[in-house]
Amino acid sequence: MTTTSNPSSTKPITMSSPDLTDAERQAVANVMSTPSLSMGDQIAAFEESVQSYTGSKFAIGVSSGTAGLHLCVRAAGIQAGDLVITTPFSFVASTNVLLYEGAVSVFVDVEPRTGNIDPHLVFAAAQDIMQGGKNAQAWLPPQGASPDGKLKAVLPVDVFGQPADLEPILNTAWKYRLKVIEDSCEALGATYKGRPAGTLGDYGVFGFYPNKQITTGEGGMVITDEIEAAGLMRALRNQGRAPGDTWLQHTHMGYNYRLDEMSAALGVAQMQRIDELIARRSQVAEWYNQRISEIPGLEAPTMANYTSRVSWFVYVVRFAPGLERNLIAQKLGELGIPARPYFLPIHLQPYIVERFGYKEGTFPVTEELGRRGLALPFSGVMDEGQVERVCQALRQVIL
Ligand SMILES: *Cc1c(COP(=O)(O)O)cnc(C)c1O
Repeated sequence: MTTTSNPSSTKPITMSSPDLTDAERQAVANVMSTPSLSMGDQIAAFEESVQSYTGSKFAIGVSSGTAGLHLCVRAAGIQAGDLVITTPFSFVASTNVLLYEGAVSVFVDVEPRTGNIDPHLVFAAAQDIMQGGKNAQAWLPPQGASPDGKLKAVLPVDVFGQPADLEPILNTAWKYRLKVIEDSCEALGATYKGRPAGTLGDYGVFGFYPNKQITTGEGGMVITDEIEAAGLMRALRNQGRAPGDTWLQHTHMGYNYRLDEMSAALGVAQMQRIDELIARRSQVAEWYNQRISEIPGLEAPTMANYTSRVSWFVYVVRFAPGLERNLIAQKLGELGIPARPYFLPIHLQPYIVERFGYKEGTFPVTEELGRRGLALPFSGVMDEGQVERVCQALRQVIL
């Protein structure tokens, strides 16, 4: 089929890898010969590029995706004891930002096909919680949440680069006056029914850790169409300084969530190649798809019909029930192929169990996906020979 003669096919295979060229290296180096290492023109240019790429009105660059999500939680007015409907099948940051404010994550289960939050459950939970009483109680965590908590928002996550099913979620949010914070940290460049990921809710957040579609090293970006929220988030990322505040005047209690100029310059250069970066990742996913579907016991990722364009973030295969995923991952490791279970459910993380008392069995779809999913090495710089080596190793350890 391919490329055993390809010299790069002996390159070590890593879990992920940034896709960088001399254009990026030069852009970062250029900043180093200016006096402006923070809050200069690179952050403004980076914000402008994400804003025009997504078509949002405002973009606020921050030091991480998590920082961006936290600012959205503050902008949405979510406070201690408030309830927010979200997914247990995610990276912990989407839940942690609620806990930072003393709010309570109300988990609901996910769609089996995509791993995205199930919009029917979002509606049912919102309806019952708004009615209060016994029906409401059933959706809350077993401990650590007051039934008097006010439902304020929904926080869906665009899992693995496929946007969540936002249309019905937006209907629920509209009906019950809830804010929607879209965690699009895995989905820059994806589209949902033709609309860009991140633009569907009141606020959307992207993350730029080195395994994401574009990277700034560490970094993130919030997008929104709300002028007041944008102003507040801009102030909060910069120690609470509102426009007009001087260096030592602070209108709000804020944070240092600024993104430095070297990172922003890297982001600008990456955004100039965004279509290419996404296309390369799609090509790698395609190479995997062709091979994975022929390995018995493995299932390639599937797309929902609401996804008009996936922006590949990770490549997660599903193991047939009965296959020993962890053992297989370990054997892959021994062959020099890294692989990771993905995600481990949030409601079963030790600190969440301690605080909210969740037990295994509460969210069966999430737990099933957590047991059967394995992320394979994936990035836009993999070549076909490397994909073939991963699949060769999989065939070897499964059979
Ligand atoms: C990457 C990611 C984040 C943000 O991560 P940071 O490391 O803080 O940039 C948030 N949510 C999800 C689902 C992610 O995958």
